[in-house]
Amino acid sequence: MQDKLMLMIPGPTPVAESTLLALAKAPIGHRTPEFSAIFADAIAKLKWLHQTANDVLILAASGTGAMEAGIINFLSKGDRVLVGDNGKFGERWAEVCDAYGLQTERLRAEWGQPLDPEAFRVALEADTAKTIAAVIVTHSETSAGVLNDLETINRHVKKHGRALMMVDAVTSLGATNVPVDAWGLDVVASGSQKAYAIPPGLGFVAVSAKAWAAYQTANLPRYYLDLGKYRKDAAKDTTPFTPAINLIVALQASLTQMQQEGLANIFCPPPTATNATRAAMKALGLGLLADDAHASDAITAVVPPAGLEAEKIRKALQQKFDIAMAGGQDHLKGKVFRMGHLGFVSDRDVLTAIAALEATLQGLAWSFPSGAGSPRQSPT
Ligand SMILES: *Cc1c(COP(=O)(O)O)cnc(C)c1O
Repeated sequence: MQDKLMLMIPGPTPVAESTLLALAKAPIGHRTPEFSAIFADAIAKLKWLHQTANDVLILAASGTGAMEAGIINFLSKGDRVLVGDNGKFGERWAEVCDAYGLQTERLRAEWGQPLDPEAFRVALEADTAKTIAAVIVTHSETSAGVLNDLETINRHVKKHGRALMMVDAVTSLGATNVPVDAWGLDVVASGSQKAYAIPPGLGFVAVSAKAWAAYQTANLPRYYLDLGKYRKDAAKDTTPFTPAINLIVALQASLTQMQQEGLANIFCPPPTATNATRAAMKALGLGLLADDAHASDAITAVVPPAGLEAEKIRKALQQKFDIAMAGGQDHLKGKVFRMGHLGFVSDRDVLTAIAALEATLQGLAWSFPSGAGSPRQSPT
């Protein structure tokens, strides 16, 4: 039943009816007072979600475009950058830095392990000449279901003084507390198809005053992604290029709904969907790639034991129950499956997915106590 397809992948995520209805509206001109009012309101709400009084800029781009913009606007050729790499996305940001001729240093951990904040402390403290221009960290590493300890790493960056803290918050913002101003994060990138619960196509970049100061002398090439242009026009409630008008209308609708829920509720207060999902997977005899202390709030990476094939499980879930889960990436292909639980996903969706997984495992002749996946108490 195609219309019943339930997206339990880490983006795109399910979209609420009120947002779909907003998307169904005919486009309006972007150089009109009507659009400017929607745009200004969407930005005010974005600042609320980011817990910032600084700029949050909207780009017509996927999350990668937002992150690339965040990296290239504030750095210069040959700048030294530390990049946390414990999965597909950390690896990607190091590649972006390489592509722009930065002096990239990767601080690695295995996929499934968190980045080690100590490694950042040691590298930053050793840099007495202050040559490190930026530290780049993926907060929630979606490929492995790991939440990196951004707060601690950021504290070391703050002590360094010069380096900008740049964050891929694509699957943390809106799912995990990311207090941009309280922590003093300099560049924070995210994308519409994750916790924002709207379709793909918008990228967001929050920028601190310290990052804007670096922008003045930064010399990497930029044109479409020149954030100065977006900032200048946002001050007049407009955009330098044709914005993704309909997506911004949808963004306003979705952020309105998120505001009604309140910041505390959208960060999944404990016991969270994550906890319920992880407890269920363990009860079903499945392994988890990340440990409990470093689990992403947005995505759980599950490791089936020998004798169970991740891809068979995924295929059966989709065929029998119309539930889509994601597979593993790169060397984890076929070794894990990943269940997304971010955005417009409720406890009912989590329970449904787990019950379907249980029935699927039964169908694959995997033995476990019947009903093991269902929590004794509802997740909230
Ligand atoms: C989805 C995602 C991105 C952005 O990917 P796009 O396909 O460019 O939207 C970046 N970082 C993380 C951690 C993600 O999960």
